[in-house]
Amino acid sequence: MSQPQDALGLDAGAVDLLKLLADRTPRTRAEIAQLTGASRSTVFNRINALRRAGLVVGVGEGSSTGGRPSTRFALNDRARTVGAMQIGRRHCTVAVADLGSGILARERFDIRLSDGPEIVLDRASEELERLIRELPAEYGPVSVITVGVSSPIDPTTGLIFNVSPMPNWSSFALEPWLRARFAVDILIDNDATLMAIGEHAAHYPSAEDLVFVTVSNGIGVGLILRGSAYSGAHGLAGDIGHLPVRRPDADVPCNCGNTGCLVAVASSDAIFSELRSRGVQVENAQDLFALVRDGDVTTAHVLRRAGRDLGDVLTSCVTLLNPSVLVVGGFLAFAGDHLMAGIREVLFARSIPHITDSLTIAKTQTEREASITGAAIHGALWTLRQENITRLLATAPVVAAREALTAVR
Ligand SMILES: [Zn+2]
Repeated sequence: MSQPQDALGLDAGAVDLLKLLADRTPRTRAEIAQLTGASRSTVFNRINALRRAGLVVGVGEGSSTGGRPSTRFALNDRARTVGAMQIGRRHCTVAVADLGSGILARERFDIRLSDGPEIVLDRASEELERLIRELPAEYGPVSVITVGVSSPIDPTTGLIFNVSPMPNWSSFALEPWLRARFAVDILIDNDATLMAIGEHAAHYPSAEDLVFVTVSNGIGVGLILRGSAYSGAHGLAGDIGHLPVRRPDADVPCNCGNTGCLVAVASSDAIFSELRSRGVQVENAQDLFALVRDGDVTTAHVLRRAGRDLGDVLTSCVTLLNPSVLVVGGFLAFAGDHLMAGIREVLFARSIPHITDSLTIAKTQTEREASITGAAIHGALWTLRQENITRLLATAPVVAAREALTAVR
């Protein structure tokens, strides 16, 4: 007896088949029949319906025990797309990605957070809408938009904490504003958390526990614990910028009212002002990279010391959490190896050997794209979650993928 079908001609079994393929592992019809318990002819019909809907594609030839090789089928990465926004302190990046987390288009532009959320979000939305509009026709509609901000987010209210880089954003509800504009689900998270999610999924998928520290004009940590992102009870886990540095001469005033905070001695602004006080001309990241390239001794010394200060605080982090991977990102990680050397120096000197013996310490492999890549990966993973798969069907129109129109063998 046939099951009821929806507007796409998909019965509940076809949806279950789509859920099976959401792990992005290509499978033959025979494998699918075995895994779902459906007959081969039923699987044949369901695959055809999913191909017509553009949700599944044939990918290469499966191995066969003699005779004709059998086609494998996989979820179509182009069936839906993901929007991503990274609202930094001075720049915003928007991007569109497919469900395989491949970035299809991106745009980066300067912003002033002091202009307030509506002006910044309006510009970011315009740019993202343009990228979506310009996508080739074989890409499906946007299923979700992920937004990264340089501040903790309270998971219960969805509001940005009232912190120094975004003071006039704290009462603004980003999620409803963006949902009204795009009419899709909106995910908002701290950028360090998104970087951790992206780095973990792309480069350390088997690591259960990963710490990602981002060091630029802010300093923050994103956490993957037992394979999942962890933000704490109120979204503040990993907000390490105002932890104290033990160095006696680190009594630099911080905008939080304390002195000797990590962000006050090891952020890019702190490093620039320390270099200028020592007579080194530096205004921005490009100047810093040039000084490092030219082998400027003062710059090397200041970066190494900032690395030691980071290592000081990170020693507590790794001792508390015992991660298997510590990733360092943010643009300061790429100003030569001085910062990394300082971090390693203190981590190895101050941690018990059991902690560091099994700890991989590395720079991010996505360089300055870590936050937008992480946002895209987070959106794709969210879309492919079992509980969200049926939303793929809800976000019509149906995409007639070119492959799906070819004759089915
Ligand atoms: Zn502080």
